[in-house]
Amino acid sequence: MFLKGKTALITGSTSGIGLAYAKAIAGEGANVVINGFGDAAAIEAERKGLEAVSGARALYSGHDLSNVDQIEAMMTEAAAAFGGVDILINNAGVQHVAPIEEFPVEKWDLIIALNLTSAFHTARLALPWMKSKKWGRIIQTASAHSLTASPFKSAYVTAKHGLAGLTKTIALEAATFGVTANCISPGYVWTPLVEKQIPDTMKARGMTKEQVMNDVLLAGQPTKQFVTVEQVAAMALFLCRDDAASITGANMSIDGGWTAQ
Ligand code: NAD
Repeated sequence: MFLKGKTALITGSTSGIGLAYAKAIAGEGANVVINGFGDAAAIEAERKGLEAVSGARALYSGHDLSNVDQIEAMMTEAAAAFGGVDILINNAGVQHVAPIEEFPVEKWDLIIALNLTSAFHTARLALPWMKSKKWGRIIQTASAHSLTASPFKSAYVTAKHGLAGLTKTIALEAATFGVTANCISPGYVWTPLVEKQIPDTMKARGMTKEQVMNDVLLAGQPTKQFVTVEQVAAMALFLCRDDAASITGANMSIDGGWTAQ
């Protein structure tokens, strides 16, 4: 249990990749703050499960991270409970698929606010504690779309490229404080986020569900396999180890070879 005594805050961790991070990190004994939306009873069951695994505390924060006041409230709650956040994983994200000329302006604003700007706010609020402790880990769930683009995903691609730039800047500013900042960039991982974009992609491209799965989602993934949430979480856990102390400012692809092409 190499994370005993540490506290991890994982945004968007009520489902998908975020929940897998929470389970992996709790499995190493850390306190965890989970965040996101969903059914209250299901979230409470996950929270209790995390405490059972870690032998430490798990808090749930239901704040909407597209709003700066709510981000500040979440970070204040975490600091009140644990002193500060040692491991910050910015993972909350949403997607919208549409051509630029039809892209709803409110969806653009939401995706930039949640997928990019929230990571700036959580980092600026977490860094003073990490620097004072001379230890910290900031991990962003970026995406293969932080390195390459696809049509109809303008806001998402923009936010993820921005997140990659923000992460490099944090890495440089924090480099002498024992604090690392890195992106993990998955290809297609089978989660609710991917499942939900299938109908819009069917509409945007005039395709059947099977065509979207094989000819769009897995078309660019040479392994022809979805990445698993456990594979992504294992990378995050490695980045928390002392063995990873010299890995900073990096963008770790887990994309079945997508961006090698
Ligand atoms: P998901 O939909 O399963 O999880 C998204 C999480 O974010 C949920 O917990 C949800 O409640 C939370 N969330 C949504 N809006 C929020 C808000 N306003 N405030 C706070 N929390 C909010 O999706 P996922 O696939 O696990 O995605 C997690 C991250 O991984 C996202 O940043 C996504 O862009 C990224 N990603 C996913 C894939 C993939 O193929 N699934 C690939 C690359 C990157």
